[in-house]
Amino acid sequence: MTGRREFELIVVGAGIAGASLAYFLAEQGCGDVLLLERETQLAVHSTGRSAATLSSADANPTLLRIKQAAKPFFLSPPDGFSENPLLRRTGVLGVYPEPLWSTLRAALPALRETGLDGELLDQDEVLRRVPVLDPAELAGGILIADDGRLDVHEILSSYLRHARARGATLRLGAEIIGVIVEGGRCRGVRTRDGDFRARLVVDAAGAWAGTIARLAGAMDIPLVPHRRTIVTFAPPPGLPIADWPMIASDTHHLYFQPEAGDLMLSPMDEDAMAPCDPSPDEAVVADGLARFAKLAPALAPRALKRRWSGLRTFAPDRVHVVGEDPMLPGFFWLAGQGGCGIETSPLIGRVAADLVLRGRSDAFDTHLLSPARFAV
Ligand SMILES: Cc1cc2nc3c(=O)[nH]c(=O)nc-3n(C[C@H](O)[C@H](O)[C@H](O)COP(=O)(O)OP(=O)(O)OC[C@H]3O[C@@H](n4cnc5c(N)ncnc54)[C@H](O)[C@@H]3O)c2cc1C
Repeated sequence: MTGRREFELIVVGAGIAGASLAYFLAEQGCGDVLLLERETQLAVHSTGRSAATLSSADANPTLLRIKQAAKPFFLSPPDGFSENPLLRRTGVLGVYPEPLWSTLRAALPALRETGLDGELLDQDEVLRRVPVLDPAELAGGILIADDGRLDVHEILSSYLRHARARGATLRLGAEIIGVIVEGGRCRGVRTRDGDFRARLVVDAAGAWAGTIARLAGAMDIPLVPHRRTIVTFAPPPGLPIADWPMIASDTHHLYFQPEAGDLMLSPMDEDAMAPCDPSPDEAVVADGLARFAKLAPALAPRALKRRWSGLRTFAPDRVHVVGEDPMLPGFFWLAGQGGCGIETSPLIGRVAADLVLRGRSDAFDTHLLSPARFAV
């Protein structure tokens, strides 16, 4: 590989995390960025395998705040950001049996104060929207009408297009095999095609973020990848599904939604594993379909069309890890995107860019994201 060897910043991984950082850096005038991606294509790992949903409710108060702060970007993207809409507001509908339903109904006013804009639907209203649900399995639901489906390809390619237009360089097929540390500071990375140097190296390697940190000798943060699976199948002939929201049921431990004329379902599996290219576990899929047959018997598929798995990588408190390593100056974490890395990318990418360029951000309380929270 020929060309420049020194940059202001090197980003390891061109998934949604690395791409959104490159975009927000470029927006703030920093285009001297080298993005190094091991795969020869984009979106091979988590970013290309998601359910592509914006679901702004979250039981974790920090993630709820991050999601609330990120959502306006998708509702109203900056002028000229993308060629196509980023979000289809199909809605996300959580359904609940008693006694959970009564508890949630009572708690909704307090939840609204956190910014959650949910609409209570009684059982009849839920069934009017999605008539195939078994009434014995739910008492009501909460609909967030302006949540919905994200166009991940459009989001990722738009982040990268703008970053590259302002000077960022993207190299595919470039695997980091070592991290250069000199004088107690991270100075660059090693690839099979030689070394690249920078003021700061950003670890945005998704499930492999811990691997890169170990190569550098940075903090040991127990980031754990967890497999999640999705299957698709045809709806019964003639059933109009196009306008259904995503339906999520914690009780049945699944969610499903329309997907290009078919239905997409996740059994919400969460098996911890080493970083890898995971495939679906047949028993997990069978159990998930059995739970689905209870909630929506008329939809139980006879055959599956597609199935895939990807990794969702979590820090112990399930919140993103964003900031310079407290032990290794020059090494910057952008990891632990978990199950919401796409929908949180407008806020997390911006905060990461602020921290990289100025060491602080007005957009969020960065202590909640800092790797220093894991220092013992
Ligand atoms: C089934 C499933 C459903 C999901 N649903 C949603 C959803 O509905 N909404 C949502 O917001 N999020 C969802 N997520 C989560 C979301 O996909 C992730 O949080 C997000 O994609 C993580 O992005 P990333 O850039 O950190 O990781 P990745 O997309 O995995 O990118 C990391 C990149 O780093 C590269 N890399 C690794 N090691 C090296 C190396 N040594 N050298 C160079 N490059 C390297 C990898 O090749 C990879 O491309 C889902 C995830 C899964 C698996």
